[in-house]
This record gives sequence, C-alpha cells and structure tokens, in this order.
Amino acid sequence: MHILSHVLARNVQLAPDRDFIISESETLTYREFGERTARLANVLAQHGIGKGDRVGLYLPSTPLMAVAFWACQRLGAIPTPLSAMFRHSELRRIVARTKMNAIIADTETWGYFSEIRGEFPELGTCLVQGGGQGADPLEALMDIAEPSFADIACDHRDVACLFFTSGTTGTPKGIAQTHFSVLSTLRDMMVSHRTRFGEEVYLCAVPLFTNFGLTVTLNLCLYTGGTIVLHDRWDTERVMTDIGRYRATYFGGTPTMYVYMVNSHEPARHDLSSLRICTTGGSPVPQPVIKRFEELSGVKVAQVYGATETCGQNVIEPTLGVRKAGSAGLPVGSSRIAILDDKDNELPRGAIGEVIIGGDCIAQGYWGDPDATAAAFGSLGWRSGDLGYVDEDGFLFIVDRKKDLIIAGGHNIYPLEVESVLYCHPAVAMCAVVGAPDVEKGEIPVAVVVLDEDAVVTPQELREWCRKDLAAYKVPRRIEIIHHMPVEAAKIRKRDLVEALKGEGLDKYRRQ
Ligand code: ATP
Repeated sequence: MHILSHVLARNVQLAPDRDFIISESETLTYREFGERTARLANVLAQHGIGKGDRVGLYLPSTPLMAVAFWACQRLGAIPTPLSAMFRHSELRRIVARTKMNAIIADTETWGYFSEIRGEFPELGTCLVQGGGQGADPLEALMDIAEPSFADIACDHRDVACLFFTSGTTGTPKGIAQTHFSVLSTLRDMMVSHRTRFGEEVYLCAVPLFTNFGLTVTLNLCLYTGGTIVLHDRWDTERVMTDIGRYRATYFGGTPTMYVYMVNSHEPARHDLSSLRICTTGGSPVPQPVIKRFEELSGVKVAQVYGATETCGQNVIEPTLGVRKAGSAGLPVGSSRIAILDDKDNELPRGAIGEVIIGGDCIAQGYWGDPDATAAAFGSLGWRSGDLGYVDEDGFLFIVDRKKDLIIAGGHNIYPLEVESVLYCHPAVAMCAVVGAPDVEKGEIPVAVVVLDEDAVVTPQELREWCRKDLAAYKVPRRIEIIHHMPVEAAKIRKRDLVEALKGEGLDKYRRQ
C-alpha cells in the first residue's frame, strides 16, 4: 500500500525539471523541492525528530510550509499545520494536546511563540526561518545538510497529518488524517475532476494550514504532477491576474472568494480563458454568485462537499452530463452519504436531516480526544453537523449547517436560501443571514450586508426585494449594512456576527 512519500519520490523521478511551486519570491522544480525536503528531513533527524513525532508548522502559506509538510512525510513524522493567525491561547492548547516535539516558524510567528516557549520544556526543537532568539536558524542548518534522504517507511494506516480546524464553529479539534484516507481522497478527486497528469496549473490562494489549501489543492497538485502558483494571502486582483499570466487550468476556492472575484472582474484586464476546472465549497454556496462567475469566465464551477474530517471532497458536482442547480453533486469513489434524523434513523430520499459521510476518506478521529471521536465518528461515518437531503437520483443538496439554522417562531429558516435571494440584488456585494435573539419569536433572521462600491440602497428596499421571493417569515426582520465582513480562512465568521448582534453591535464592521 502506498504512503504519501512515495508520491513525491515518483514525481522527482518522473519530472525532475517540471516547475512544482511558483511563489512571489521563488520557483522550485520537483528536483529542487525534493532536495529541500531532504535537507529539512536531515535537519529534523539530527535534532532527534523521527517517526510519529508531531511537528508544528507555524508558518504562512509560502513554499517553506510545503517543504516542511513533505519533509515530515519523508521522516514519518506528523506535520501539524498551525494558522499563522493563532495566538497564545490556541498555541497553548494545541502544543499541549499534541505533546508537540518540534516547531518550525518564521521570524514573525516565532515572535508570538517565543513569549510562551518557556511553558513547554519538553518541546525540544524550534527551527526558525530568518532566525529568532532562542531558536535554531533554519536556513543555515539546511544549507549544510545533505540534499538526499532515505525515506522512512510507514504503514498506510499511520497518521500522515494533524489539522486543527479554523474554529469557525467552535474550539479547534485536531483531526488525524491517515496516509490511506488522504491518498483515497486524492485518487477520487483526480478521477472526478478528470485532471491530466503533468498538465494542470493550479492557482492556490486558500491558506495552507487548512485541508482545503494543503490536502485538496497543494497535495492534489503534487499527486497529479502539476504546477502550483502559490499565493500567501488573498488578493483578488493578483489572483485574477495570475490566472491569465500563468495560464492556470485549476482554481478551487470558497464561495467568498468567488464573491470577491465576481465583484472585481474586468474583462479587459483579467483573462480567465485558461481555466478548465473550477471548484467551490467549504461553506454553503449561493447559486447567484456561481452563476455570475460562470457567465464571466465561461467555465462550469463544480460544487464540492466534504470536510477536514473526511479529507476533502467526497461529493463532487459533475460538470458533464446531468447537472442540478444548487446540488453538491454525487458521492465519489468509495464515499457514501447517509441522511439521519434526530434519533439517528436513516431518512428516505428527499427528506432533510444530518449528513453523514462514510468511506475510505474518513480520518482516524480527533487526536487525544476519544470522547469527541466517539461522538462524531460512527459505523456509518462522520457526523457533519450539516443539514441536507439526497434526491431521487442520488444528488446531495446541502441546505445549511445545523448550527446556522434559524428557528423563528417555530419556522425553520435556512440562511443560504435568504442569502441567495439577496445576492441577486445588484447592489449586494456580500451578505450573511444570522439569527438574533427575540423575546417573542425566540430568534429572528437578520441580514448583514456589504454593498457594492458606489451602490446606494436602503435596508427597506432590500427587505422589499426579499419579500418578492420569500415567504414573509423568511424575510430578514432587520438588514444591517456594514463596511466589511469578518472573514477567516476565506469563510465568513457568522459566529462573530451572532456575538456582535447579541452584544456590542456591528459598529466595528462599519468602520473602514
Ligand atoms: P470548524 O470546525 O473549525 O468550524 P469548519 O467546519 O469550517 O471548521 P472545514 O473542515 O474547513 O471545517 O469545513 C467543513 C464544513 O464546510 C462542512 O461541514 C460544511 O459545513 C461546509 N461545507 C463544505 N462544503 C460545502 C458545500 N458544498 N456546501 C455547504 N457547506 C459546505
């Protein structure tokens, strides 16, 4: 059975001179990438890091993040990507929970980590790119290390990576993906998206500390022997320019990213004609946004559905043959979908319930947390906490997250449905519908809206717009116009909006 390091070894052998990573600062071929990972694997080994050890990657989405991830694969160690935005409380929790053996940082992230470094005497190795007080200098050590490394063998059921979720809906949990689960996902995605080996150019602007960025974009690129244009932060103009500049064939992004692109597209400056495969998922997908992007680019966007716990994309919308507007598509490879009611009974076709994802892609569980693992992973698969239904042809429709469902006076309101109506209004650039507490109804729907630049519309006019398409109970009772949306890892942080509505209000999002 294969493990991840075999894939890198194959590419270095098959296509040593093909560009693998193109970033703002450098380009690495597969051979150069292979050598860098060997040097770092040697440095880590010299520091006593080996099979099964947890290595925190507290880095931005630069080539070093990719090198560090793959150096760990060669060593049989477990890379643990950490958002460069994590601060002391998240770091403390994760370092303690994983009993982390080493950390790789850059000067900036080390600045934060070094303040709490003393609390972890058992964390033996700290390697810092660009240098940092109390840590070992990464480049200097890599420069003198050997550029070759004999990969350490692992079992395909061993943990290959530990992801800590972004925490958009709660405390971050460490998801243990195995070699088998990751390789199953990559194989299924390659088949479903019909990627051509050695011919795709991926544009990646999703952060690499997420499963979406690392597993289903960077590692999919490596698995398919492609080239990746790697952006270390979201910059709409740069993304749209680089698609044309590098003739990108593949773009995967959250719906929020498509919102930004649709709002900024200028045909005279942005050439999207090279795109062949576009995917979106990671949060509920408003159809008007996707339709608009398809019209602008001429490319079909495949909705995809999955989660870090299921290693990525388990349901993929076909872009050939039967398409169903709004559907997340059909289960791919070994993936299976079941829909359960509140008492865990399987529901028939068409009925809305909790989506359960099963198959080879399922992660091993939550690291060091048997209770959370037992609660979320069962015989049918992983409980997503998402609400959806499967139609008579087996297509999955996600109606929303269970947690985001608004219950107003006994009526269920799915925010995605209301958001989709608002997105059809020409003045709306971005929106989120959330529940706010109400004495009479329990909860009421409130729409938080960012307007297009120069657009002028009143909340009352937007409510009138909704009234034309929605039953009265779904029409937002209040429409709040703000200047910027709270977004993290390219997803709208609805939890922040809910908290703000309960407490201090939305003023902080109204300022420039
Ligand atoms: P956290 O657990 O920290 O809140 P998260 O839930 O955003 O993070 P991810 O693994 O990044 O964790 O995202 C998985 C979730 O994204 C799914 O459970 C689902 O809610 C949402 N999602 C993914 N694809 C789709 C889709 N096509 N339509 C609707 N929602 C989707």
